Amino acid sequence: MDAFIAEYDVLDRARTLAQSYLQGVPTRHVGGTATPAALHAALGGPLPEHRQEPAAVIEQLARDTDAGLVATVGPRYFGFVTGGAIPVTVAADWLASAWDQNGAMYVMSPAVAVMEDIVSGWLVDLLHLPRGCSVGFVTGCHMANFTGLAAARHEVLRRAGWDVEARGLQSAPRVSVIVGDEVHVSAVGALRMLGFGTEELVRVPVDGQGRMRADLLPGALESVNGPAIVCAQVGNVATGASDPVGQIIDLAHAKGAWVHVDGAFGLWAAAVPELAAQVEGVERADSWATDAHKWLNVPYDSGLAIVADPAPHRAALSLKASYLQRGDEEERVGMDWAPESSRRARVIPLYALIRALGREGIASLVRRNCALARRMAGRLSGQRGVRVLNEVVLNQVLVQFAGAGTDPDDTTRDVIARVQAEGTCWAGGAIWQGRQVMRISVSNWSTTEDDIDRSADAILRCHRDAIA
Ligand SMILES: *Cc1c(COP(=O)(O)O)cnc(C)c1O
Repeated sequence: MDAFIAEYDVLDRARTLAQSYLQGVPTRHVGGTATPAALHAALGGPLPEHRQEPAAVIEQLARDTDAGLVATVGPRYFGFVTGGAIPVTVAADWLASAWDQNGAMYVMSPAVAVMEDIVSGWLVDLLHLPRGCSVGFVTGCHMANFTGLAAARHEVLRRAGWDVEARGLQSAPRVSVIVGDEVHVSAVGALRMLGFGTEELVRVPVDGQGRMRADLLPGALESVNGPAIVCAQVGNVATGASDPVGQIIDLAHAKGAWVHVDGAFGLWAAAVPELAAQVEGVERADSWATDAHKWLNVPYDSGLAIVADPAPHRAALSLKASYLQRGDEEERVGMDWAPESSRRARVIPLYALIRALGREGIASLVRRNCALARRMAGRLSGQRGVRVLNEVVLNQVLVQFAGAGTDPDDTTRDVIARVQAEGTCWAGGAIWQGRQVMRISVSNWSTTEDDIDRSADAILRCHRDAIA
């Protein structure tokens, strides 16, 4: 064995560096500060020809990435919907890496296979979904959408007498896919990979908060014949609003359509008693896609594909080969439920999270973020020239900034750029119903009221500077 490679002390060094990073996160500039050229210069160079001391590699890694890191694990990162990583989940993730288990099959890691079964049951319980759902542990909600929609494609075609896994899509009966006009790009991307083009989608108009108009769904369902899939959304990426999913499911099921729900972060409303009404009826859908790496604050990569009936889920994804020792019915075959073969044991941090927080802790994490989003909206909306454009029903706040005689779109873009450069917090931009907005997503476990107040002050300062 090569003693040089077998240097385990390097793990201690990584732990020290990680801890010092995490301790510094609350006070560091939230956005990245390096230029691409500076990062290339620090991290690049010609292909290394010779070995280097592992400790030196780790030191260099920590040093040269630093200015290019974004403090997404910190309390004042409000970009996208990212969540952070609760320390216990990071620790569990380290163990998952150290153990380097493969989640593909029981024989490759009995512990991981059993943990996946256990966490599947816990998740279904937490989200109040039907018992007996199958769960695939995938990279993110994008692949969770792919998985749920692959199961949908299988089942609606099976009912039409067509085996899509054997016979393909090219001569199959036509499958119609109905989406809300505010469908997330990732669901569209997943549909594209499954053979459904963007121009083939039947789009149902949305209301002022981005919710699919259930009153217009019957017309869309009438306009299509044969196998159909309806793709609903809980948790619009801009407003946080959820489609009237119970009504959508009833209408779609009456027409024999499969309902898939994209709930990357919004599905967690189902785990909080006072928010559950926003997703009323969601448990009657056929498949759900969500993330643990967003609102549950486990490290990337952690998406969850859940299907009410395991049969189409497995039929759409499972693989067989003579050398794959799939085991008997007692043993979980992880690769039956995810569009991957070899796969990181990504269940481990999620297992640790659920053990550490429990049902109550998870609900309070989501609840607290929603209260903080309302606080942010309250701090901003009273101010001259500042408007909150959405109903703050979850963790999302959309803000528009104006100045005397200027175009609010320009002013808003200017404020966003100033906030990102100033570094107290980080928020991104989006176009919402034709208007430039600042998009603030509160999804980090460590955010406090003080973080919200400091961030609101920084944002308002940037607005004053922008219009001065
Ligand atoms: C983030 C998001 C996705 C994509 O999830 P990833 O985890 O980035 O793959 C899909 N749908 C919605 C509504 C999202 O917010």
